[in-house]
Amino acid sequence: MDTVSAIDRKDFAEVTRNFAQREIKPNVREWMSEGVFPRHIIKGLGEMGVLGSTFPLQWGGSAVGFLTMVQCAEQVGKACPDLVTAFNMNAMTAPLAILNWGNDEQRERYVRPLIAGDMIGGFALTEAAGGSDVLGAVRTRAVKDGDDWVVNGTKMWITLSPVADVALLFARTDPDAGHRGFTAFALHYDDPGVTVNPIALSGLGKVIPVGEVVLDDVRLPDERRVGEVGQGFKIAMNALDYGRIAVTVKSMATAEAMFDLAVEYAKSREAFGEPIGNFQMIKKQIADMATDLAAGRALMYQAAEAHDAGIAATKLSAQAKYFAGEVALRAADATMEIYGGIALSDELPLIHYLNLAHLARTGEGAANILRIALGDDALGIKSLDRHQVKTVR
Ligand SMILES: Cc1cc2nc3c(=O)[nH]c(=O)nc-3n(C[C@H](O)[C@H](O)[C@H](O)COP(=O)(O)OP(=O)(O)OC[C@H]3O[C@@H](n4cnc5c(N)ncnc54)[C@H](O)[C@@H]3O)c2cc1C
Repeated sequence: MDTVSAIDRKDFAEVTRNFAQREIKPNVREWMSEGVFPRHIIKGLGEMGVLGSTFPLQWGGSAVGFLTMVQCAEQVGKACPDLVTAFNMNAMTAPLAILNWGNDEQRERYVRPLIAGDMIGGFALTEAAGGSDVLGAVRTRAVKDGDDWVVNGTKMWITLSPVADVALLFARTDPDAGHRGFTAFALHYDDPGVTVNPIALSGLGKVIPVGEVVLDDVRLPDERRVGEVGQGFKIAMNALDYGRIAVTVKSMATAEAMFDLAVEYAKSREAFGEPIGNFQMIKKQIADMATDLAAGRALMYQAAEAHDAGIAATKLSAQAKYFAGEVALRAADATMEIYGGIALSDELPLIHYLNLAHLARTGEGAANILRIALGDDALGIKSLDRHQVKTVR
């Protein structure tokens, strides 16, 4: 296995590219059809130091920065866009939130094994009543009982829950306190009272399993509480700043994969005696995709650089995620049109990519929710970057 402990930032992405092309790309079809979550790939990325790119050396990280991590995640996405989700859960959303808001014991217990790839992580916020209106929809309750919290409720659509070890869980600790009534906990999937019911999502493929998580009188000692009582909503929003960059990477990888397929087909498919890429309307679609890709990538890197600089990046993360979702959907639409009827064939990944693009538009802040937030920001109604930056480096 390649090791990156002694190489510079630029080489991180190169080493990841080699690993992804060698260990991921040739196996994706088989994992998809067999329904395999390739845990050993997460372990490999952990061993190379890639998952820990943006984490301090003190907690097992390699401290080369957020931008480098994004460039590594891009390489994983180029081999298999779906796997960026697992990269996110082990390197971004949950571990970065625990790094920022947890205590040293929790950093040792969760951050270190997550970024080493020894544990699989997750983020359990959404419930069946709705993902956009979290404040209105979350019914999961955590009630203090002696030194423990007793948690009851059901989380929905929880990525990797059928295979994960730990998740950052959000529950209501004071139902009358609005967003101050949420608290975050580290949930272990083998805690007594936790049941995971896998959700079948054939349109998304089977590499990244998703489940419903039922919590029935789950007792969590107070040492599992992450951050202060009542800080959960803030923690969730901070975690989403990172998760949105991960979704951006996945969207851009999906768009790029479609662009490559579109170019290949436009050059090889003939109609009226010439390659369809010679026709101006097809050229326009290719040109628009190429430009969208360049713009989306620039915004993604800008957001990553803001995280590296320690400046507020909520707005840039939201813009990058929103734009990349639209780029992926436009690329899916154009590529499917360029492929004509064969776009629907099971032999091609286009339907799968279309579904990934839809998910990218929906998850970690649905497009309309980001439109509202970005509109409010532009109109001076509510600044997206109003919160103090919370980063432990
Ligand atoms: C495969 C998959 C994996 C997921 N993984 C996770 C996970 O790991 N952890 C987790 O916590 N969640 C996860 N989610 C949940 C995801 O974050 C939610 O699906 C997302 O937040 C949207 O919520 P919703 O699906 O309930 O849609 P809703 O909130 O019901 O929204 C439905 C539609 O209405 C629109 N809408 C809502 N409010 C407004 C408004 N005020 N104005 C205009 N339009 C509006 C939305 O934009 C959307 O288009 C996952 C979802 C899927 C499908």
